[in-house]
Amino acid sequence: MPHIPSADLIEIFSSLQGEGELLGRRQVFIRFAGCNLDCDYCDTSFLSRRLCLVEENSGSGALVEYENPVTLHRVVLLLKRWLTEYPNAHHSISITGGEPLLHAELLELWLPHLRQLLPISLETNGTLPAALRLIIDHLDYVAMDVKLPSVTGQGTDWQAHADFLAVATQAQCSVKMIVDESTTDAELIRATKLVNDVSSSIPVILQPVTRHHKVAVPVPRLLALQALAAEIHPETLVIPQTHIFMGVM
Ligand code: SF4
Repeated sequence: MPHIPSADLIEIFSSLQGEGELLGRRQVFIRFAGCNLDCDYCDTSFLSRRLCLVEENSGSGALVEYENPVTLHRVVLLLKRWLTEYPNAHHSISITGGEPLLHAELLELWLPHLRQLLPISLETNGTLPAALRLIIDHLDYVAMDVKLPSVTGQGTDWQAHADFLAVATQAQCSVKMIVDESTTDAELIRATKLVNDVSSSIPVILQPVTRHHKVAVPVPRLLALQALAAEIHPETLVIPQTHIFMGVM
């Protein structure tokens, strides 16, 4: 694959999906560097670095280092070995970040090759619709955020989320909303209506913030938020970040 550019990656590993619609599925995670947002609750290390950490043996937890940028050829060889060693164990490849759509032009070239190995799931903050349009034909799943301003500490670009969601429905799409004690009824109603206006069948997942390895939102408040959202959009679930409790990567 001589003409395909290499990628600035943070890590590659095999683990269980701990969030959202594919909860419990074992995935290959490819984490891209960089993000266009700066959420208050962010717990992800996404800054570009010289070395990418790679779980050379799937599921071992032991990491080796690849020089950045990493070639597609090297990633494909690694994944082919994992798929041979553990047939059927992996459900899909999670393209994650940071915000992986900052690399949309590269992904447009990488994804057709990766998709020959496994279905592709994109985890995204849901704010870059033009970038999504570039790669939507190569995606099987889109797990997008709708960011609530009280939680992120930033303004929300509601129009960008709406435009993004309209494109994302070309794949199997779900929407995650991070909630905490400061989440207001008004913003949750606005976000839920935004989803329902596109389709009533898109799962909306309310994900309570995790702090110090615990769900940081009291259950009565969580249930009140779920009831409020479900009144507008019945397909509303509450799922915390389970990988943190399990202690998996
Ligand atoms: S969009 Fe995700 S990766 Fe980016 S700052 Fe927010 S939580 Fe962190």
